[in-house]
Amino acid sequence: MKTLGNDLPEVNFGKTPYKVKKLGFGIMRLPMLQDGKVDFELSTPMIRYAIEHGVNFLDSHHFYHNGESEEAIGRAVQGIPRNKIILQTKIGMYNNYTEKECWRLLEQALRKMKTDYLDFYFSHSLSWENHLKYGKSFLSFTEKALNQGLIRYRGFSAHDKPENIKKIIISGEFSAMLVQYNLLDRSNEEVIALACERGLGVEIMGPLAGGMLGFPDEKIMKYSPVKVKSTAELALKFVLANPNIHVAFSGMNTLGQVAENIASVVSTSRFSRNDIGKLDQIFENQKKLLNLYCTGCGYCLPCPNKVNIPSIFRLYNFAQVYGLVKKAKKDYRALNPEEKASRCLACGKCEEKCPQKIPIQKKLKQIKNYFEK
Ligand code: SF4
Ligand code: SF4
Repeated sequence: MKTLGNDLPEVNFGKTPYKVKKLGFGIMRLPMLQDGKVDFELSTPMIRYAIEHGVNFLDSHHFYHNGESEEAIGRAVQGIPRNKIILQTKIGMYNNYTEKECWRLLEQALRKMKTDYLDFYFSHSLSWENHLKYGKSFLSFTEKALNQGLIRYRGFSAHDKPENIKKIIISGEFSAMLVQYNLLDRSNEEVIALACERGLGVEIMGPLAGGMLGFPDEKIMKYSPVKVKSTAELALKFVLANPNIHVAFSGMNTLGQVAENIASVVSTSRFSRNDIGKLDQIFENQKKLLNLYCTGCGYCLPCPNKVNIPSIFRLYNFAQVYGLVKKAKKDYRALNPEEKASRCLACGKCEEKCPQKIPIQKKLKQIKNYFEK
C-alpha cells in the first residue's frame, strides 16, 4: 500500500468534523463477471487506486450489485487506517422495514464493509411523502444506532421535486444530503444552495449524467472555457465549480476511468464563476436558436403511433444545444423503431396537449432528417 494520496482538493463537509475530497467513489458501477457477480479481482485494485490517490469517501447501498457493493468495499479497504476513509451506505425505508429488518441491514453492512461503524447512514431516495410516512421509524432507529456508536451521522438521498427536498432539509433531521446535479440537469441548484447554507454536507450523484457526459464528444469540449481532455473532465469541472457542493460521487467502472476522473479534479485548470457564465451563455444561445423548450412532462403522450416524443426531443436537445452529437446519435439509434420520429403520422393529437405549444410535427420532421438520414 502506497502512502495515502493528498492530491485532490479537500473541503469541510458541512457542519460535520469531516474533511472530504471533492471526488468520491460511487460503488455501483463496478466491473462484472459474466455470471452477473462483481469482479472483485478488478474492483479491489480500482477502489484501492482511488484511495491511494486521495479519494476518501465511498458511497454504497445494500442493494447495489445485489448486495456485493458493500462487500467490494470491505475487500478493498482492508489494511487501510479506518480514519483515512469515510464510509456511507443507505437503507430504503420506502420498503416499510420493521426495526428488526433495519438492524439486520445495518449489521450486514458493517459486516460486509468490515468496519465497526459507518460514518454516514442514509435514508435512500427519500421523498417528502415517505419522510412523513417512514421518517419516524428511520429517525428512532438511527438514534439508537448513533447512541451505540454504530453510525456517526445520518443523511438522505432524494429524487423528489426541489420544493419537497427543501422541506426535508428544513426539517433539520439530517447532516448530509445526496442529490442529482450535472451540466444537463441543474434543477437542484437552489436545493444545493439551501443545504449548504443550513450546514449539511452536500453530495452529488450523476455528475456525468448517467454516462451521457462520459462519452467522448469533441463538439461539447470545444465549448469548454478552459482546455479539457474529455467530456467527463468538462462535466466534473462544471459540477465542482459550484462552491455549495462538497463531493461528487462518480460511479466508476474501470481503472482508466478512476485515473482519468482523479486527474480531471486534480488538474490546476478549474472553472471560475466567469467560466460557468460563458458556458451558460453558449447553451442559452443554442437553446434560443433551436427553439425547442421541451420540459419532458409527457403530456403529449400517448401518441397513437407510439412515437416517443419526449425522448426524441431530449436527444435532439443534447445534440444541438450541448454538442453531445455522437452520444445522442448512438442513443437515438438504440430507440425502438416504432418510437422514432419517422413513425409520426401527423395526426396532430400531441400538439393540442403540449403546454409549451411546441410545433411537434414540424420538429419531428427536422429530427427525422437529422437522426435518420
Ligand atoms: S402528430 Fe405524430 S407524434 Fe403527434 S400524436 Fe400524431 S402521430 Fe404521434
Ligand atoms: S407535452 Fe410538450 S413539453 Fe411536454 S414532453 Fe411533450 S413535447 Fe415536451
